Amino acid sequence: MQITRSVRQRLHQRGFREKVLAAYRDSCSLCRLKHRELLDAAHITPDIEPDSRPVINNGIALCKLHHAAFDKFILGITPDYIIHVRRDVLDEEDGPMLLHGLKELHNSHIVLPSSKVHWPKQEYLERRYQKFREAI
Ligand SMILES: [Zn+2]
Repeated sequence: MQITRSVRQRLHQRGFREKVLAAYRDSCSLCRLKHRELLDAAHITPDIEPDSRPVINNGIALCKLHHAAFDKFILGITPDYIIHVRRDVLDEEDGPMLLHGLKELHNSHIVLPSSKVHWPKQEYLERRYQKFREAI
């Protein structure tokens, strides 16, 4: 049986999700949320880019909120694994979700996998963080 490119890609992505979530022990790297159904394996180098690879050190386990915030450049992660929240978001006043879910993460360290080989590759974070800087 021949498998199509898109099926192969989906299987590939599923493997990526499983591996990344396992490395982070099913927990968001930013807020420690442990509900698998609310967790994603986010790509550091987006998978639309030709050199993006579905490997654990190009991934990071993030909850749905933090995945979207990472993708939309509301927050960035430095190559030293520190979370930076966008300035205008830090200055915003709103309810508890904004305060605890985003603003309080500013300058804190992400939770890393126990095995160092699974830590996000600093070169990937560097490139992504550069984009965050350019976007703000
Ligand atoms: Zn989270």
